[in-house]
Amino acid sequence: MADYKITLLKGDGIGPEIVNQAVKVLDKAGEKFGFSVEYDEALLGGCAIDATGVPLPDETVAKCKASDSVLLGAVGGPKWDTLPGNIRPEAGLLGIRGALGLFANLRPSVIFGPLKSASPIKDEIIGGNLDIMIVRELTGGIYFGERGRKEVDGQPAAWDTEMYTVAEIERIARVAFDLAMKRNKKLTSVDKANVLESSRLWRETVIKVSKDYPEVELNHLYVDNCAMQLVRNPGQFDVIVTSNIFGDILSDEASMIAGSIGMLASASLAGEKFGLYEPIHGSAPDIAGLGIANPLATILSVAMMLRYSLDQGKAADAIEAAVAKVLETYRTPDIYEDGMTKVSCEEMGDLVCKAL
Ligand code: NAD
Repeated sequence: MADYKITLLKGDGIGPEIVNQAVKVLDKAGEKFGFSVEYDEALLGGCAIDATGVPLPDETVAKCKASDSVLLGAVGGPKWDTLPGNIRPEAGLLGIRGALGLFANLRPSVIFGPLKSASPIKDEIIGGNLDIMIVRELTGGIYFGERGRKEVDGQPAAWDTEMYTVAEIERIARVAFDLAMKRNKKLTSVDKANVLESSRLWRETVIKVSKDYPEVELNHLYVDNCAMQLVRNPGQFDVIVTSNIFGDILSDEASMIAGSIGMLASASLAGEKFGLYEPIHGSAPDIAGLGIANPLATILSVAMMLRYSLDQGKAADAIEAAVAKVLETYRTPDIYEDGMTKVSCEEMGDLVCKAL
């Protein structure tokens, strides 16, 4: 019997191409570090709509729940853009996050040395290195709060509600503190406590949780200031923890600082171990099937899976080091620079395996 069971949700567009490369790298890491992986495939998104009529079949949820972790490519594409919202591929994405109880979204923003010039931020501002981890609460807050339309002073109006329970804040804070303990023991909690009552509860609760983590240096920033600090001095951050809506915006901002969309991985965790891992980019229908997609974000998502779900930290480090090494010479077209050798999606996967 294999040591780990992984469900693959290859999805649409470039999804299958990039997941295939990541699987190759995971198998190679298994050979090198002495573990084995068994895969099961399931449908999500457009391919699921075509086969079953819905973007998230029950069988997909069952397969994911029966595995140690899930690797997702990407979903969506113009073919399904005109369907009603509840049966579009994106509904499958939200559905699977809910069905698996994935409440913590981890988005690392890392610049690999050879790719520094891809960042829109000046070298001297980035400094030596950029390695930020944004922890976003994923299943609460304003995206899930009560909302509606009403009339105010004879005018049509609309409202949404931001609400967090202490339990929701505590569990996301613990994920962030645990991560900070494994990194540089520095945590920034981001809120808008000067205005919002929900943010005041957020801050009080994070401070309470911090008593269990005396080694972690905790500071608080208002979200507007954090947005500025990310471009003024990104090197000051290690782990950032924040609510669903603030995390949505700040994690995209931090991604742009890192430069290339084809390089950024993410994890969504349900608790101590189980997680869903995926690149942050979409299904790139414009280049699907051309064999030129950058598989590195998916390969780096596998590294995150090894670190956070499978207790194979050394294998994760080795994959990241292999990616850094390959980037010194080889590039897919999206990150190509003069003097480098241009390679296909598959060649990039092979090169990372070889460097491992
Ligand atoms: P996108 O991320 O798919 O593409 C944006 C641009 O980046 C495109 O030019 C694309 O070619 C390029 N790109 C993205 N990933 C790349 C890679 N790995 N290698 C090389 N180039 C890459 O975003 P979009 O065009 O706005 O959306 C396309 C589809 O993807 C839509 O249907 C959208 O709903 C869906 N989408 C899915 C997810 C997901 O599955 N998590 C996320 C975002 C968008």
